Amino acid sequence: MRNDPIDLQQLDARVEAKRPVYTALADKIWDLAELRFNEHQSAKAQIEQLEAEGFTVTAGIAGIPTAFIAESKVGPAEGGAKGPVIGFLGEFDALSGLSQQAGVAEPMPITAGGIGHGCGHNLLGTGAMLAAVAARDALKESGASATIRYFGCPAEEGGSGKTFMAREGVFHELDVAITWHAHAFNGAQHVASLANIQCYFRFVGKPSHAAGSPHLGRSALDAAELMNIGVNFLREHMPSDCRVHYAFTDAGGTSPNVVQGTAELLYLVRAPKVSQALQLFERVVAIAGGAAQMTETKMSYEVDKACSEIVPNNVLERTLAGCMERIGAPSMPESGRAFAEQIRKTFTEEDIASSVANAAAPEEMAEALVHEGVLPFNPSPVFIGGSTDVGDVSWIVPTVQAWGACYTIGTPFHTWQMVAQGKEELAHNGMMLAAKAMAATALEVARDPELLAAAKAEHKRRTGGKPYACPIPEGVVPPPLRGKKA
Ligand SMILES: [Zn+2]
Repeated sequence: MRNDPIDLQQLDARVEAKRPVYTALADKIWDLAELRFNEHQSAKAQIEQLEAEGFTVTAGIAGIPTAFIAESKVGPAEGGAKGPVIGFLGEFDALSGLSQQAGVAEPMPITAGGIGHGCGHNLLGTGAMLAAVAARDALKESGASATIRYFGCPAEEGGSGKTFMAREGVFHELDVAITWHAHAFNGAQHVASLANIQCYFRFVGKPSHAAGSPHLGRSALDAAELMNIGVNFLREHMPSDCRVHYAFTDAGGTSPNVVQGTAELLYLVRAPKVSQALQLFERVVAIAGGAAQMTETKMSYEVDKACSEIVPNNVLERTLAGCMERIGAPSMPESGRAFAEQIRKTFTEEDIASSVANAAAPEEMAEALVHEGVLPFNPSPVFIGGSTDVGDVSWIVPTVQAWGACYTIGTPFHTWQMVAQGKEELAHNGMMLAAKAMAATALEVARDPELLAAAKAEHKRRTGGKPYACPIPEGVVPPPLRGKKA
């Protein structure tokens, strides 16, 4: 085993010294539970802490009030090289309909229909900030040079904040980007996410009395229904790993005796590659046009947001997984065991098997309550099904994502169970481990130019050296800048 040039023990102590402040911050963001692009208090709480750590903050970037960059430069010594620019990505947005009391093992909202942290983003940004601060402090002490940036990234859930930021060139100066996700497992895997495009489809018809003069009406609701039927037939003739979902955002009112003059659908089209998503999207648009023709209504559409698939970076993933393994996973805190066992009882065997399979973890992990180890790095893709705007950053710079075990094995994402566990010591421990591993990875990148060159070479190979093309059309502004929708 090679002599570890990074003092992981010292790094561990450095991060642990900040545990009270950062776990309190994660809990505070859990309490705030703010929704996409409205994370004003959560962003403010992060900015205040970063300023207290001596970072220089630029807020309201890319036209988004809650997006920000915090920067701290280390070195260079007289005449020395500037060193790499290392970025940490952090989120803080929650999810609607997931209000839930912490530490309660049954569905019990704080506010009925309210907002909750069902994807652990209270931990994500906070852990990434802690990694940025620890890496900066360690580099400063070692006399190395680097620029450390933390990106406050709003609206990961359903808003693709990073994609809007990427379009404005926010990430272009980075050498690497490092981030993590709260999970039931520890590790760093070759994750395959789906590209997606989210779009509103609107139909305008002609209202009339549904019984008295039905022949005069043209139903926008019929058009929306026919569009859905058309898309449901499309499913048989699209690649099997693509996904199409829809929701009615306007069904034309609540009166069955009025021919519905307006209707609106929100579509989400996903595919393994952004080029496939764009092709599939064109086919969905054609079906919408056909539905309008059949019903003599007018159709228009408006892209809401989009994101690209993740470009994995095995060089960085292997490095991060290695750092995490050497740091070592914490064991289950005894104080949380009874609650974890209660939560476990709310899962079916299928939930647990699916949690294990989705992480590409060994099958016998289904027997364990929590993950107390680190998954060995595995270069075969782990298909996560969902999408993330981290994908867009990964097209621009070599990007790596860690997983930190914050939840009982079997916990599905976007559920009350995830919200309920968000303030547990287990969740804090997962965040702390991820922060240590991310900081260690940054230190590896800063001290080893060959590692950085290898990560960049892999990135070039995987992207074909093509410049990033943002999947959000030029004219689509971030939601906070849009006029109020009728
Ligand atoms: Zn999520």
